[in-house]
Amino acid sequence: MIANIPFFEQVNQSFDRAAALTDHPPGLLEQIKTCNNVYHLTFPLRRDNGAIEVIHAWRAEHSHHRMPTKGGVRYTSQADEDEVTALAALMSYKCAIVDVPYGGAKGAVKINPRDYSAAELERITRRYTYELVAKNFLGPGVDVPGPDYGTGAREMAWMADTYAALRSTEVNPFACVTGKPVSTGGVRGRVEATGRGVFFGVREACSMKEDMKLLGLPTGLEGKRVVVQGLGNVGFHAARLLAGAGAVVIGVAERDGTVYREKGIDVVKLDEYRRETGGVKNFEGCEFSDSAAGLELKCDILLPAALENQIHDGNVDRIRAKIIAEGANGPVTAEASRILHERGVLIIPDTYLNAGGVTVSYFEWLKNIANVRFGRMGKRFDQKTNRNLLEAVESLTGKTFGEETIHRLAAGGDEEDLVNSGLEETMVSAFHAIRDCQSRHNGIDLRIAAYVIAINKIAVSYSDRGIFP
Ligand code: NAD
Repeated sequence: MIANIPFFEQVNQSFDRAAALTDHPPGLLEQIKTCNNVYHLTFPLRRDNGAIEVIHAWRAEHSHHRMPTKGGVRYTSQADEDEVTALAALMSYKCAIVDVPYGGAKGAVKINPRDYSAAELERITRRYTYELVAKNFLGPGVDVPGPDYGTGAREMAWMADTYAALRSTEVNPFACVTGKPVSTGGVRGRVEATGRGVFFGVREACSMKEDMKLLGLPTGLEGKRVVVQGLGNVGFHAARLLAGAGAVVIGVAERDGTVYREKGIDVVKLDEYRRETGGVKNFEGCEFSDSAAGLELKCDILLPAALENQIHDGNVDRIRAKIIAEGANGPVTAEASRILHERGVLIIPDTYLNAGGVTVSYFEWLKNIANVRFGRMGKRFDQKTNRNLLEAVESLTGKTFGEETIHRLAAGGDEEDLVNSGLEETMVSAFHAIRDCQSRHNGIDLRIAAYVIAINKIAVSYSDRGIFP
């Protein structure tokens, strides 16, 4: 049996448990929890064969405590209003946790993108964009979508282009969406940002000696056995970076099944193979089983990075991971999360762990608003200052560094360096804030600690404006 409690209700269950640990007035808590706007739209699509099909789509703006609102757009045949609303709420909390100054939003188009040609997807995306603009649900200061499950840079470029055509006199129309290609105002590092953020979060969690001791694991990533569900944007980059830091990816579950190899799987090669063949089945040197079996493999870190409600009442008893790193949004139901916490499993929660995407989207939006690439003003200046310093050390010591060392030590940061550095700082500080909050409230899990932080920050943003004294 999979989760029978609606997704938004599950989010609100966690919210209520955290809210009980705060002393905000009930009316303020209700305002934080409520979804402000949901727009359900339908529009006709002319298919390539001439047939007309009615497309259902949504945009939910959960919280306007900060503007614009922000959240991805997903293309999936499973989309509905409950899912979009729940995901918009998660975005509000996520942005607060990592200090990204947005309210939360989410969008969805109810289609399986694999069933449509590129031309049809472009028509759907442009019409969806047009309808959002018509109802004031899109704009750099209003609501800023980004990529999510089933969408990517291509869809974001179509959205930006449509918006720019409709609002051609705005100074920064391309700030209306993030996750765009770099050539269209995107920022370097955005594609892998969510996976990189997952990597930083897992690395921090594994660096906590006392927490690892409780799990019977050594500190650090070296040798930790990882299973990934969903080798898409989030799962692939997180797995690649974890493997690069010494972890061993022993299992990958995809739509068509699970591949398993105790000695480790080369995820870069597996990704190439999946792109060529459409799946992971028959990947060289691996055992193969069905898709659901992947979640139940014995491992140190389970990284669900596909969709919500993957670990639930029906399979929670068979989960054998010591750490669950929530790359996806809502992959563990509220009830399963409670059971796992009682069993001593460490869950690194989605509201924190996959916040790397929105963090770097925020950097992209700042770049678009400022109309200048990060690093353009300071890089050469930093290089010269560093070089002068090194030369001063050389003349004081009488020793020389050599051109290669000087080049390395004096290098100023380019856009990608600065983006990755800002992302690392965000993920590391947010983890320790959540961990400290957990220590202050004996016995709570990291999810509830993250919610407590989010609620407190959103409450302050209301009360500072005199809305709730
Ligand atoms: P994606 O479409 O790039 O990848 C999803 C992958 O999961 C695909 O490879 C798909 O084949 C696989 N998959 C689907 N159903 C599966 C199943 N039942 N078992 C195993 N694999 C399955 O999507 P994404 O952007 O990586 O998003 C994944 C999750 O991460 C979603 O929950 C999304 O909301 C969340 N997320 C994404 C971002 C982002 O920046 N892309 C940011 C934050 C959170």
